[in-house]
Amino acid sequence: MVNYLELKKVSDSFQPELSATIEKVVQSGWYLFGEEKKAFEEEFAAYCGTNFCVGVGNGLDALTLIFSGYMEMGVMQPGDEIIVPANTYIASILAITRCGLTPVLCEPRLDTFLLDEEKIEALITPRTKAIMAVHLYGRVCAMDPITILAKRHHLKLVEDSAQAHGAIYKGKKAGNLGDAAAFSFYPGKNLGALSDAGAVMTNDADLAKVVRALSNYGSLTKYTHLYKGINSRMDEIQAAVLRLKLKRLDKDNEVRRAYAERYIREIHNPRMIVPEYPCREGHVFHIFALRVPELRDQLQLWLKDEGIETQIHYPKPPHLQEAYKEWKSLSFPVTEKIHNEVLSLPLSPVHTAEEITRVIDALNRFV
Ligand SMILES: *Cc1c(COP(=O)(O)O)cnc(C)c1O
Repeated sequence: MVNYLELKKVSDSFQPELSATIEKVVQSGWYLFGEEKKAFEEEFAAYCGTNFCVGVGNGLDALTLIFSGYMEMGVMQPGDEIIVPANTYIASILAITRCGLTPVLCEPRLDTFLLDEEKIEALITPRTKAIMAVHLYGRVCAMDPITILAKRHHLKLVEDSAQAHGAIYKGKKAGNLGDAAAFSFYPGKNLGALSDAGAVMTNDADLAKVVRALSNYGSLTKYTHLYKGINSRMDEIQAAVLRLKLKRLDKDNEVRRAYAERYIREIHNPRMIVPEYPCREGHVFHIFALRVPELRDQLQLWLKDEGIETQIHYPKPPHLQEAYKEWKSLSFPVTEKIHNEVLSLPLSPVHTAEEITRVIDALNRFV
């Protein structure tokens, strides 16, 4: 059986250091707001190249805290519009609506699955306050044209980097390509904790300060509350685990790229469209998605019989979800096509070369 992702194998690959790290925190008697979180924030900021990193409870909170931070700073008001790709994971959009802001869905490009930079400008209105660039599947958006647009219209550029730990665009890391960025360290991400965790990255000292306060009951000093904050913290165990795993992130991403290159080179089935990736380092392959214009679901079942587990990211776009039933009548043909055609193949640093070969062989045999 080739599983899609085996977290036990990931954890095993970090032993015995992983258990020792956890034991050290347990024995320290200090579980929140300690040395591990502080050190992780410094190390991850240095890794991304940003001035500030604020560890928080999860990726959704990281995104939400960026927008509520801008609202506290007076940069955004309730009802302001945020342009966001229509094919993103729903968390990107939930963060916007949670803050009383209005998501404006933008079609992605079929060839990259990313925000279509040519379709953004037509969506900008006097109420638009930000563009959210989601580096979906681990590939960085076309940041040069998007940055020019954001500057020209005085918009904030927010990165959803939850799938793009370590991805690079023209020498700079995802997380340092806009005004603020959110990371998730959900266990299955390229840099994953052993529970929920997230981070906000920025070079803006004011935003960093507001986000830090908002994540801790609106407080920077005990029992003094500046804002109506929330409780969203990265605990010491997760911070210690992430510090350990960060050391191997680049190497792990390199393994992902090598496997992805094999998929791109060796899958020859005319039923499948394998995306091309001209900019190698710009992609960290959190997800390797093929397009299968016909028989996608049949292929997935057939692969299962062959002992190969695949996934679909994602089966249903946000505008067709019950949660956003007010958007039911909207039409996003590119987005809907992507959701009907994509299939994610097993790809992780703990897969073996033989497993990747098995996947390729099976795909090439499918008729
Ligand atoms: C995982 C993910 C999130 C949310 O992160 P959580 O830690 O699960 O809250 C947000 N956006 C994208 C694109 C993601 O993949």
